[in-house]
Amino acid sequence: MKKLTPKISKKTIALTPPVEEGPYYKPGSPERNNIVGPDTPGKKLVVEGCVMDAKGQPIAHAWLDFWHADGSGAYDNEGFNLRGHQYTDKDGRYHLETVRPHQYLFRTPHIHVKVRAAENSPVLTTQLFFPGEKRNEKDPIFKTRTLMNVEDVPGGQKATFDFVVEI
Ligand code: FE
Repeated sequence: MKKLTPKISKKTIALTPPVEEGPYYKPGSPERNNIVGPDTPGKKLVVEGCVMDAKGQPIAHAWLDFWHADGSGAYDNEGFNLRGHQYTDKDGRYHLETVRPHQYLFRTPHIHVKVRAAENSPVLTTQLFFPGEKRNEKDPIFKTRTLMNVEDVPGGQKATFDFVVEI
């Protein structure tokens, strides 16, 4: 008779793939959830989700650093508008309040982000994309695997994306 062994799942979730950093990252962004300065062009956008490890366990106090272009396709390279870092809550969740970035040069609209589970963990640098953008397929940097889910909400849009990172 076959010996009964406890069933332990070894299944892991695929890690969120990296996407290139691009030329506009600036270290030292302020810690904040709302990264929109006064008079920033762009439609209101909220991005939410969680950071988890490859076993699907949420990671509390993971670091996320966001930066992106404004609603006219411009980056703030002098100051820190549309730049900010934050940490996940006890349930591994993050919440970003921003505006929808516009395309620039050959790029389709995207949000840059760096994510790190803990201080000594590897940093994931990637980009989040919007479904249904005409330029997605023409942008050589675009990845379907980092497409967000986006829905219209009163006053703007709400996007969700869950990150799976190495710990
Ligand atoms: Fe960019």
